[in-house]
Amino acid sequence: MRKLVLICLLVLLKSTGGQADTEPHTYMWGIDTTHVSVWLESRSLRVEVDDVTGRWALLDKLSGTRWPSRGTAGAGTATWLEGNFVRTETTDKNSVRLRKKNGTAVVFALVDEGKAFELRYEGKADRSVRVLDDALAITDIEGGYAIVPCREGLLISANSGKSFKRVFGTSDYEGCHMNMLGFIKGGSTLIVTWDDAYVFPGLQSTKPTDKPYRQKLTTTFELRRSAKLLRLMPLGKGDWNTIASAYRRYAEKQGLAITLRDKIRRDRHVELMVGAANAKLWTCLARRMNEQSTKEESAKVRWTFDEAAQIAEHLRKDVGIERCLFMVGGWTEGGYDCRHPDNLPANPECGGNKALSDAIKRIQELGYVASLHDNVQDMYRDAKSWDPAFIEKRRDGSLITGGRWLGGRAYMVCAPKQLELAKRPQNLPAIHQLFSPWSYFIDTTYAVGPRECYDPNHPIDRNGDIAWKIRLSDYARDVFGIFGSECGREWALPHSDFFEGLVAVGGKYYHNLKPEDIGATVIPFFEMVYHDCQICYGKYGYRAERAAEYVAHHVLCARPLHYHSFPDHLYWQSITSQSKINKESQTPDNACYTRSDGGWAENMHPLDVFLKNTHEVLGPLHSVTAHDVLTRMEFLNKDRTLRQATYGQGKDATKVIVNFGTTEARFTSKLGGDVVLPRWGFVVEGPRFVAFHARRWNGEEYGEGALFTLQAKDDKDLKNSHRVRVFHAFGPANLRWRGNRYKVQREQVIQPQQ
Ligand SMILES: [Zn+2]
Repeated sequence: MRKLVLICLLVLLKSTGGQADTEPHTYMWGIDTTHVSVWLESRSLRVEVDDVTGRWALLDKLSGTRWPSRGTAGAGTATWLEGNFVRTETTDKNSVRLRKKNGTAVVFALVDEGKAFELRYEGKADRSVRVLDDALAITDIEGGYAIVPCREGLLISANSGKSFKRVFGTSDYEGCHMNMLGFIKGGSTLIVTWDDAYVFPGLQSTKPTDKPYRQKLTTTFELRRSAKLLRLMPLGKGDWNTIASAYRRYAEKQGLAITLRDKIRRDRHVELMVGAANAKLWTCLARRMNEQSTKEESAKVRWTFDEAAQIAEHLRKDVGIERCLFMVGGWTEGGYDCRHPDNLPANPECGGNKALSDAIKRIQELGYVASLHDNVQDMYRDAKSWDPAFIEKRRDGSLITGGRWLGGRAYMVCAPKQLELAKRPQNLPAIHQLFSPWSYFIDTTYAVGPRECYDPNHPIDRNGDIAWKIRLSDYARDVFGIFGSECGREWALPHSDFFEGLVAVGGKYYHNLKPEDIGATVIPFFEMVYHDCQICYGKYGYRAERAAEYVAHHVLCARPLHYHSFPDHLYWQSITSQSKINKESQTPDNACYTRSDGGWAENMHPLDVFLKNTHEVLGPLHSVTAHDVLTRMEFLNKDRTLRQATYGQGKDATKVIVNFGTTEARFTSKLGGDVVLPRWGFVVEGPRFVAFHARRWNGEEYGEGALFTLQAKDDKDLKNSHRVRVFHAFGPANLRWRGNRYKVQREQVIQPQQ
């Protein structure tokens, strides 16, 4: 748009029989009458479009903020979009179509009752467009942030001093795990949404030296193949909380926000997943094959099926873990990875079919959800049903390979063929009939990014791949009741019950991505949108003696941990592992959740100490928050290391405050008064559950820190309860509660009087 003065002359070029006099939003700019500008306007936004150049700008009427901040944004960069538009068509008051001579068009439209502005491309299939790099540019001086829904979520500051470039492809591994991005500048918020797996948003941070700002963060959306539209929804003044709650409302309309309550109605065993730890035996039979899957390199029975059941019984009876998703890996013929997809019989090395069936029965008699670990995406050359016909093909017809895992080199089974294999009588139906676990886990389904296959017998594109994986999820859930897979994607929420890997990976926030490299703070954005919709865990093993930050992250997210590093066999009977772990202990800060001095798990196996300490906090915390979202996420100090998450609302809200700083943190809480938290310490305060790992709480000094939890055991809230269960993990055993002082070594039900 040039320098223009509005004189409100109506200009309409009709492609269909609309009525010119009902078009109040279409005006002509003054002075230069060859340049006509179209305005689309609703209560919340106004879009101005130059119908010759296609340049546009969006005004957020609620905040008065323009996107872009200055000037105008382009309609998209592509060779087929070069040159001016020659024709303007308005078929209704909410949209305008600008046509090129070559017939292609860009449509600007108000959608979602005027709440969103849609940019849509017509014609020239399979041609990419790059757009929004200018419209969404944010700078340090505007207080700019981008929110990327990758695993839990990234808050990327435009004031980090970091230069980087990174693409977060739709549904890709550590890409965009929801079809949205959020933006904040000058205290004004906006979200961009889309529906197609060929949308590739790329963020770039630059540090120019010749501009009024020092850092600029731009986001370029590349729309390939079938991707033709983006929606921008300005939300007025706000922050990440505004963005999360607006996106939740949008997700509900899209049918994505199927809640745990819905899922419990769907299958009653899902209730047993609320507040459940995730214990995985990885893997019962560990066999490693060479690259070609022709020669065994090693084979080891880590647990027999009977031992697996004994571990579950130990966790329930000796460690007092009430709820657990108990996963068994490596039960298949040949051991995990080997010979997929031919699973049966359960391998004889660990005891065979009968022993596995007995083990599942014993695990489930504890009230634990047993889950068998499977994989239908990777196929190995030594599988009985090996057939290249199942495998994804490149354009030249060659087979697509995957990773080099225990079974050798994996070949990627095409998504429709995955479902076909899973449905064979000898696969899921027989496994269900033989073992009847309440849950099934199919690895990699939600982890690997969307796939393409060029086999003429089963061609798929990225969207088709997702559609087939949805069918696989629904099928597995129909057979077993509960279904989960690795990592997790928004599109899988309605079709599954749990994600393993969404919260974190192997002791870190991410697998490959390094938040510090892109100036990002990890925030529990997923919990702000979907906490009440899914059971979620991290994935992979990690070292408990280095896991304090990992635990702190799970406390903020109100998510139980995954325990995937069980020592072999009946580990708690061995003392060698105990002394070994103690010797290898790192800094006390990092190892704090392995402490047991003076507490419940003193003298127990180090794994049991860590499991008990953490699950006594995270299990009940998840139970009291499972049907809420994280309604408010706040930074309580300047360096953003003291973080508060509020789950739920009003008097039922549970507040979680966690110290991610390098030094101790002081603040005042409702129940704890002047609280002092050590590094990675926390306070949880809800009406029926309280927990803390603190150096001072409620007037009691705890030296290097103590960990306690309190739960109301009658039907009253804690402040009125006459039966309060107190659990003490480590540190000094004294606790002040409602005017009395108690000494609780391990656990005790105290009976405060009014
Ligand atoms: Zn295919």
